[in-house]
Amino acid sequence: MTRFGTPSMALGCDNDGWMDSRDVVVVGGGVIGLGVAWRCAQRGLTVTVVDDRPGRGASHAAAGMIAPVSEVTYGEETLLTLTMESARRWPGFAAELERASSHPIGHLREGSLAVALDADDNRALEALFRFQRSLGLDAERLTGSECRELEPALVPGVRGGVLVRGEQQVDNRATTAALLLACERAEVELVAARADEVRFVGDRVVGVAVGGEPIEAPVTVLAAGAWSGSLPGLPPGVLPPVRPVKGQILRLMSPGGGKDRLLQREVWGRVEGREAYLVPRASGEIVVGGTVEEQGFDTTVTVEGVRAMLTAAFTLVPGIDECELVEATAGLRPATPDNAPVLGPSALDGLVLATGHYRHGFLLLPVTADAVAEVVVSGQVPEEIRAFSIDRFTRAGAPA
Ligand SMILES: Cc1cc2nc3c(=O)[nH]c(=O)nc-3n(C[C@H](O)[C@H](O)[C@H](O)COP(=O)(O)OP(=O)(O)OC[C@H]3O[C@@H](n4cnc5c(N)ncnc54)[C@H](O)[C@@H]3O)c2cc1C
Repeated sequence: MTRFGTPSMALGCDNDGWMDSRDVVVVGGGVIGLGVAWRCAQRGLTVTVVDDRPGRGASHAAAGMIAPVSEVTYGEETLLTLTMESARRWPGFAAELERASSHPIGHLREGSLAVALDADDNRALEALFRFQRSLGLDAERLTGSECRELEPALVPGVRGGVLVRGEQQVDNRATTAALLLACERAEVELVAARADEVRFVGDRVVGVAVGGEPIEAPVTVLAAGAWSGSLPGLPPGVLPPVRPVKGQILRLMSPGGGKDRLLQREVWGRVEGREAYLVPRASGEIVVGGTVEEQGFDTTVTVEGVRAMLTAAFTLVPGIDECELVEATAGLRPATPDNAPVLGPSALDGLVLATGHYRHGFLLLPVTADAVAEVVVSGQVPEEIRAFSIDRFTRAGAPA
């Protein structure tokens, strides 16, 4: 077992010969596990994160959009309350994280623009706009020429659009790097290994086993992303109903880098019946995504996936053909039956859940980190996450 980072200050030795103990073990060092670990350490707890590849799960693939209004979906109004609250917290969270880590995370508030390329799409966009307005959300309907005034690189045939001012984005990889640095400075211990199984004393979870060694704590946080639904040792009724949903994604670089950016804001559209987006970074990088595939734990990048994304991006913004294709990769979104996360206490004492963030792990980072740390520190479940307890899946009549 390799350990790195700053060792916990709460070292001790119990009767079983365990060499150290801490207040909380976090299984999973993606954006969610690291966010929870950082917040717990800031509140005075000794924390260990266990992950053989921290920051390299879905968090490495993501686009980093923080766009609750553009991404609002029919039937997911409860989730909207959480996503809006988290987006509200993002500017403060970003500033605090950058201060704590001395690492910029590329937080931008340039807004997002959904566009329609034909009459059918424009009708669908109109329906989305009415839905957004019925929920009291701030969105503006634009004509095709107004869209092109804002984003001259859009294809001339654009029929109309919906603009959401102020929607945010972060650079996903810079954010996980900053979280790792902030955790290290807050003396979070990182154990570079996979947790093999959960450990119990009676019915109580007391940590995990790593390479045959116990890592023990009064509280264990399960934040293992798409792998959360299959951590060995937990009984089926306790495991959160999380499955992997594959997303392929591309990274392009504009010829002039950050100078003369092709796009100013996130652009969404539908091409060949599939949703596509382009997310421009200040550096000139453009992230193009993303496929949504039920393929289990497969992360193969396919010709069809890359073709579909490039076709969509080129159809929306023809000038991207000048860009360098820097990377094609795939990640596994941790999805639940209702597309909302599973947060808070589990059916077992000592086990807290922070998983199932599906398409919104970055968007939901601030609210998740704050609320789950509160559960760990005080045992109280904050109001904003009460609707996201695992109980909604275990009650009679719960969604399958
Ligand atoms: C293509 C794509 C685009 C996306 N775009 C966006 C976006 O624009 N905005 C947004 O908000 N979200 C986006 N998402 C979703 C977002 O990436 C996820 O919701 C988020 O990264 C989930 O974070 P996580 O920490 O739960 O999981 P992960 O980042 O997957 O981290 C889980 C970690 O757990 C570790 N682990 C697993 N099993 C064990 C074990 N047994 N022991 C120890 N460690 C273990 C893994 O190594 C991994 O590092 C996107 C996702 C994809 C795939």
